[in-house]
Amino acid sequence: MRLLLIEDEHKVAEFVARGLRAERFAVDVASDGDTGWAMASTLDYDLVILDLMLPGLGGTEILRRLRRKNGATAVLVLTARDATRDKVENFEAGADDYLTKPFAFAELLVRVKALLRRPPPARSNVVRVADLEIDRLAQQVRRAGKRIELTAKEYGLLEYLASCSGRVLTRTMIIEHVWDESFEGLTNIVDVYIRHLRAKIDDGHENKLIRTMRGVGYSISDESP
Ligand code: CA
Repeated sequence: MRLLLIEDEHKVAEFVARGLRAERFAVDVASDGDTGWAMASTLDYDLVILDLMLPGLGGTEILRRLRRKNGATAVLVLTARDATRDKVENFEAGADDYLTKPFAFAELLVRVKALLRRPPPARSNVVRVADLEIDRLAQQVRRAGKRIELTAKEYGLLEYLASCSGRVLTRTMIIEHVWDESFEGLTNIVDVYIRHLRAKIDDGHENKLIRTMRGVGYSISDESP
């Protein structure tokens, strides 16, 4: 899952992003309100973690704009302020949850997971393609009932392909979604990870789920009769 963190305090941003990445989330960071809004409004995030006091566009205004644009992205508001008035204002503006600084990472993580578990319409926790099953909350993968161990990036890649099953995803789309936007390597890293995934997901199964569209990209689909 892909998260956007809009936070101008460098130390807080770094500690939150590092912790979330260790939990297998792809995390983009914006350190001012205008950049944050530009990213939130052009990319598709599962969750936005939003500081209120920001240089440039303020957190509450970002929240209002996000809600006008699309209702589905979960928003967790972070703030040093603990005034009831602020909480009410931000819940009214569309925040899903609220965390007052300073906070322990463990508490942030619990709230992030709870928000991602609260599904907007049409988002299911379990994605299935044929006999492949991905539990997005437990981050567990099974094929024909057998547990498959994946690395964080393999998992991210598989989850993205499966959540768009039947659609061909280009290498650029995959890089943007699965790797952080700080990624500066070559898009053929995708080919390498697809090879790893195939070995774990498709080897030994007659019905191959991972497909290559030559010169375009990859998809996962079930075309068995
Ligand atoms: Ca701030």
